Amino acid sequence: MIVALVFIFGAFIGSFLNVVIFLLHRQESFIKGTSKCLFCGHRLMPLDLMPILSYFYLRGHCRYCRQPFSKQYPLVEFFTALIFVLVYLHVFPDPNNSLFSAKNILYLMDYWALAAALIVVFVYDFKYYLILDTVIWPATVLAITVNLFLGYNPLHLLYGAIIGGGFFALQFAISRGRWIGGGDIRLGMLMGVILGWPYILAALFIAYVLGSLISVILILYRKKAWHDKIPFGTFLALSTLITMLYGPALITWYWSLFIF
Ligand SMILES: [Zn+2]
Repeated sequence: MIVALVFIFGAFIGSFLNVVIFLLHRQESFIKGTSKCLFCGHRLMPLDLMPILSYFYLRGHCRYCRQPFSKQYPLVEFFTALIFVLVYLHVFPDPNNSLFSAKNILYLMDYWALAAALIVVFVYDFKYYLILDTVIWPATVLAITVNLFLGYNPLHLLYGAIIGGGFFALQFAISRGRWIGGGDIRLGMLMGVILGWPYILAALFIAYVLGSLISVILILYRKKAWHDKIPFGTFLALSTLITMLYGPALITWYWSLFIF
């Protein structure tokens, strides 16, 4: 039951993130009305604004002007809902017997907020090849504050930030900014303060494995060429989410491959 409620809540957050991504790109403020069709400006009714469902109910078109909506909308809504459920199950592994405490709830809120920020980074870098400082900095402050409050070793956070940021700063220096941008350095630092040492290493490793696999698949299917730009922030955001949820399990599994 609670899992279903969390899924619905996550779907609405996903719908909100779509609006955030749109407004960040247009550099508009939130004060203007947002429940309008982006093409014809017609006011949308509650039935048109149901996350995930409306896309199918309207068959992917605006009811008023018939312009097709981007598949980004239902996809972001669905995956935000899914990730919100996975985060909930990470904090409360037995959803029928959740032991709520102030610490647990703070941890849940923190992880939900950071997951939302990473979803925005994922989509935005994928669409526009840009990692937004307006998302990275607040998320960094939040991650440091909550992690310290929850009793995380400050040194492990510092090592995480140095490794995450340093790894990309080094590549930036070697390539004189050709391989990666400054946004990757700041995203690396954010990963470090979310995950800390040693999980930052796992996240970087996963990002490179995913990045190489998906690039090869895209090149094989001729969707991209070797010299094409790859939105690496997308892979970093995904690997951070995976490590947040499954870091310890993945590290145990990885070592078990070498120890017989
Ligand atoms: Zn319309």
